[in-house]
Amino acid sequence: MAKAVPDAPGDDAGQHYDATPYLPARGGLPALRRAASACRGCPLFRDATQTVFGRGPARARLMLVGEQPGDREDVQGEPFVGPAGQLLRRALDEAGLDGEEAYLTNVVKHFKFTPAPRGKRRIHQAPSLREMTACRPWLARELRLVAPEVLVVLGATAGKALLGPSFRVGEQRGVLLPMPALDGEEPGTAAAGQLLATVHPSAVLRADDREAAFAGLVADLSVAATVLE
Ligand code: SF4
Repeated sequence: MAKAVPDAPGDDAGQHYDATPYLPARGGLPALRRAASACRGCPLFRDATQTVFGRGPARARLMLVGEQPGDREDVQGEPFVGPAGQLLRRALDEAGLDGEEAYLTNVVKHFKFTPAPRGKRRIHQAPSLREMTACRPWLARELRLVAPEVLVVLGATAGKALLGPSFRVGEQRGVLLPMPALDGEEPGTAAAGQLLATVHPSAVLRADDREAAFAGLVADLSVAATVLE
């Protein structure tokens, strides 16, 4: 039974943020995607256009996880379709990986933003730890169903969600790590496979030296490519 979520912002005090009650008891990715479209596990669904669930082959050998959908993704309902996603596909290609064969998703499935002071622009806001924790059961189930050989974690926020608050992308990027256990579903259940962290493609777009940042992303992804040869 789904938990009630208060209607008005500010009514959240004491609310237990958790997507778990919305997860289907059984079924594959299509059932999971349908269920996620109705998730009210935290207040982020209220202002976003729609749930942006993962996309890609159900048995992909490579899975990539970012922070949350952006403005374009929110409108189109697909992950990584904006400028950062286009850059990511170019980087995958240069690393010898096929973006069409990868499963792409985010730690948080709704776009969190604040309206720009003027105009209609929506400014990205980082999800809180509470929102990331609430949303994690979706990712845990995706990870279990897809069971990739390599999970590439894009950026600090996704890294912290999967590896804990001490994660530093600058220190741990480009190195193959064991897959962590994800709470939120089957406690203590670690998926098989390996994890590799790198920067988020949006950080490459923001970098002063974009060329060097892009080369760094490609170098990290090339490590993942060696596992999938
Ligand atoms: S962000 Fe995640 S937990 Fe929150 S409403 Fe959306 S799908 Fe549910």
